[in-house]
Amino acid sequence: MKVEEVKSTVKTQRISAHSHVKGLGLDESGYAISLAAGLVGQEAAREAAGIVVDMIRSKKMAGRAVLLAGPPGTGKTAIALAIAQELGNKVPFCPMVGSEVYSTEIKKTEVLMENFRRAIGLRIRETKEVYEGEVCELTPVETENPAGGYGKTVSHVIIGLRTAKGSKQLKLDPSIYEALQKEKVEVGDVIYIEANSGAVKRQGRSDAFATEFDLEAEEYVPLPKGDVHKKKEVVQDVTLHDLDVANAKPQGGQDVLSMMKITDKLRREINKVVDKYIDQGIAELVPGVLFIDEVHMLDIETFTYLHRALESAIAPIVIFATNRGRCVIRGTDDIISPHGVPLDLLDRLVIIRTLPYGRTDLEQILKLRVTVEGLEINPDALTALGEVGSRSTLRYAVQLLTPASLIAKTNGRNIITKADVDEIEFGISLDKGRSISGKCNSLYFRL
Ligand code: ATP
Repeated sequence: MKVEEVKSTVKTQRISAHSHVKGLGLDESGYAISLAAGLVGQEAAREAAGIVVDMIRSKKMAGRAVLLAGPPGTGKTAIALAIAQELGNKVPFCPMVGSEVYSTEIKKTEVLMENFRRAIGLRIRETKEVYEGEVCELTPVETENPAGGYGKTVSHVIIGLRTAKGSKQLKLDPSIYEALQKEKVEVGDVIYIEANSGAVKRQGRSDAFATEFDLEAEEYVPLPKGDVHKKKEVVQDVTLHDLDVANAKPQGGQDVLSMMKITDKLRREINKVVDKYIDQGIAELVPGVLFIDEVHMLDIETFTYLHRALESAIAPIVIFATNRGRCVIRGTDDIISPHGVPLDLLDRLVIIRTLPYGRTDLEQILKLRVTVEGLEINPDALTALGEVGSRSTLRYAVQLLTPASLIAKTNGRNIITKADVDEIEFGISLDKGRSISGKCNSLYFRL
């Protein structure tokens, strides 16, 4: 199995709107602190989520799942992510929307299976031979282009590594130079280079160099000095899906998807190797959280599959979310059920309600987003955005921040003012009206 080449396939873009969320923000007795770990208000739901975390930790959630029910923009995704973070550092979180299962090319169960595997992590501990130390020299050596063309190419790179035992110069392959550039390695950094794969990892700055170059010592974290060549335990966190992708054979075809066909056979092979690694104590499974938004979009066939998948020995924690009350279960003619979920699955769910936010909470959450996005906003503008949020949804108000800051910049300001919010709100509402009347004009066109 190829582990070295595994690249993370985490859906970062979808999670970036929640980058301020670091946990559930509960105190020792499990009560919600009104603003903690990036979460604001929604106390009852956060406390209930805390109980779910306790149930997971004490292994009482096997075969069961969670349902977050509440209006749009009431923090269902944020709370699901917070649950994953409470379960530990690097616990996978895989968000998806129910309607994603419908595709003309991929079977519904296949989509679910892929997302299940994205939500199951594997922590691999390997002992590797590494070169480790402080970089005291970094010289790419260039030669004329051998093909006689223009320019020069890097033929090798000389790296000086200094350790407690002394320094050594290494003459290494040009591919290492690319890896060093990717990690933004500079003279004075502490790094290690894996002897076999040539993978480079930057571990921080050296305090020794700080004094040598007369820089502020506190800028750097003191690090233990390593050896030039030694054995080191390297921990790698991957998901089962990352392993599937890294080991899938190219199939040919036009797009990336058809090239990366992951077969059931491949998954079985990967599972076998994973089992072997676990038996040998090299790896451990890290079940994560699979978040399925708009669960009412799933149909009876997918529910049947899910029901079975929940029972399997290695299943992630599945958290469903919905903003629907009673509705017809898709794929049936007329079976009405709460949230469009079949009754037998409903029986297995721990249901948590989320409630609409008041104005103060809305403004607090918007303020948090302003800070993490590195923006500035004046109080009037914040109040105006809060108003937008209570009229429509919080998510909509959060999304207005980026275009509002762009408008501010176009007007030569770093701080978002009420005028920017009004302009953008007016722009978007105008667009809605126009798109309905057929005279579509996009917001970005206005910018
Ligand atoms: P939808 O039903 O539309 O999927 P949702 O209920 O999942 O919405 P989120 O997407 O979680 O709502 O919330 C919208 C935005 O507000 C996100 O950026 C989210 O991180 C933030 N947010 C929501 N609730 C809170 C909260 N209680 N504290 C801090 N941030 C929050």
